[in-house]
Amino acid sequence: SIKTRFAPSPTGLIHFGNVRTALFNVLFARKGGGTFLLRIEDTDLERSREEFVEAVKQDLRWLGLNWQEGEGEGGPAAPYRQSRRGDIYTRYLEQLEAQGRVYPCFCSALELEVSRKVQAAAGKPPRYSGKCAHLKPEEVARKQAEGLPYTLRFRMPADTVLAFDDLVRGPQRFPSEDIGDFIIRRSDGSFAFFYVNALDDALMGVTHVLRGEDHLANTPRQIAILQALGLPVPQYGHISLIVDAHGAPLSKRTGSLSVQELRELGYFPIAVNNYLARLGHHFEESGLLSLEALAQAFDIRHLGRAPARYDRAQLDHWQAQAVQHADADALTAWLAPAVHGLVPEPDMQAFALAVRANVMFPHDARVWAEAVYAEALPISEAARQVLEEAPPELFRIAADALLEDMDFSAFVQRVKAASGLAGKQLFLPLRAALTGQTFGPEMPPLFRLMGYERARHRLVQHVL
Ligand code: GLU
Repeated sequence: SIKTRFAPSPTGLIHFGNVRTALFNVLFARKGGGTFLLRIEDTDLERSREEFVEAVKQDLRWLGLNWQEGEGEGGPAAPYRQSRRGDIYTRYLEQLEAQGRVYPCFCSALELEVSRKVQAAAGKPPRYSGKCAHLKPEEVARKQAEGLPYTLRFRMPADTVLAFDDLVRGPQRFPSEDIGDFIIRRSDGSFAFFYVNALDDALMGVTHVLRGEDHLANTPRQIAILQALGLPVPQYGHISLIVDAHGAPLSKRTGSLSVQELRELGYFPIAVNNYLARLGHHFEESGLLSLEALAQAFDIRHLGRAPARYDRAQLDHWQAQAVQHADADALTAWLAPAVHGLVPEPDMQAFALAVRANVMFPHDARVWAEAVYAEALPISEAARQVLEEAPPELFRIAADALLEDMDFSAFVQRVKAASGLAGKQLFLPLRAALTGQTFGPEMPPLFRLMGYERARHRLVQHVL
């Protein structure tokens, strides 16, 4: 059965691009009734931090991208943190050594740098020259005895082509010549990404790897390692990167937000999921879809190869959809913290429903909370103007027309009858006087929440 995974390196907060990768893996696994696994790639001990592991988990949970195996969940291939899998990596390395598939390389950084330059000048791909590939055992022993630092290189098979069918990008061919022998263990004893990443996918039974296009060039190396070890090779799909409006890779600088920031801004998880799922994947359905519905409609063949363009306006479109579709409880819970202290708790749900059409983020509700409840009503410039231009007797007529427990339409009817005003001439000054704004949510519920005393007080203020 299908098993996908997300394998973040906990060196920072996860951003748009990363979480889209997680989402696609979740959708693919769910659709196929498979498993989604979370593995923590914390081999970079210097930069990996526990708080980032926690943040990743919190972000995934917030988005509903739950994993059934891995970090915190356990499973048959535990442990799921690379920092705890050193013995496993060593064991398989020994197997490769026994097969003569790795060799120590004593080339210094400077030597490698020079050799790279020479090759670049000759227009060749920057691959290792193979200098240490044929050292005699005595030479190796002597250098090691001298204490020279060395890396371990994987011996690429000569004259072969590493070919695979990328799930997104179609058939791929990489001549082994172009790749050359590559490092799988650094001189400080740490393992290279290619090696541990490939090994873990195989040992954890991952069947499909959907990941960023930036990893495409790693894949032939990873396949070569797994083939050498006789381990199963997953199917790979490299998804397009996300770019900004100018076609540059999305970065913090160009507006990429971390999932944490999205959460703090008040985006609904469903909005983020709907936006991300459509970033590089086509869905027939143009309305808001649940995660389950996204999974059912997900099809790897609909993943585009072209870079996906990040567009905040699109994200906000989905946010607006999510706000309009949230059920009353979810809407209330979402909005309440932003208007806490302004809106009385018993009114909270009615208030949330009243302002729903006029808010995109919780803090947008503050202005409406004030419009309804503020003791000293803030009055916008536009409202001030409307109030100045209104017939002076209107507010006295309105104050007289107002009765306790009156609903807005009854109130308007009375004012209309007594003033002879109608339409905009009537509504706009009433709205301005009652809410301090010239636009906003439907008046009837605001009026109801405001109550007789406040409404009266606000009207009377404008009686000359
Ligand atoms: N830890 C790697 C990364 O975050 C995983 C890449 C992969 O998905 O294979 O880029």
